[in-house]
Amino acid sequence: MDMKSLLKSGAFVQESAKPSMFKELDATELYCPKCGQAVPVQKRLLLVLPDGDKYEYRCAFCAESVGTKMDRRDQSIVR
Ligand SMILES: [Zn+2]
Repeated sequence: MDMKSLLKSGAFVQESAKPSMFKELDATELYCPKCGQAVPVQKRLLLVLPDGDKYEYRCAFCAESVGTKMDRRDQSIVR
């Protein structure tokens, strides 16, 4: 994915000063079975584990959980 399609997809709508912005690009839309369509999602930290953080994606409309993601810490993260 190049920068233009990322911008088009709205991945950068949130203009925060998050340093890891370019390192980690999250899915901004996922399919929600309740809404029956792709929906914007909210990422929530679910669990902090020794080998990484587990995130949950929730539908922005009905708050249904539409997916989870494991962010592993085994790749060296520069902070
Ligand atoms: Zn939904």
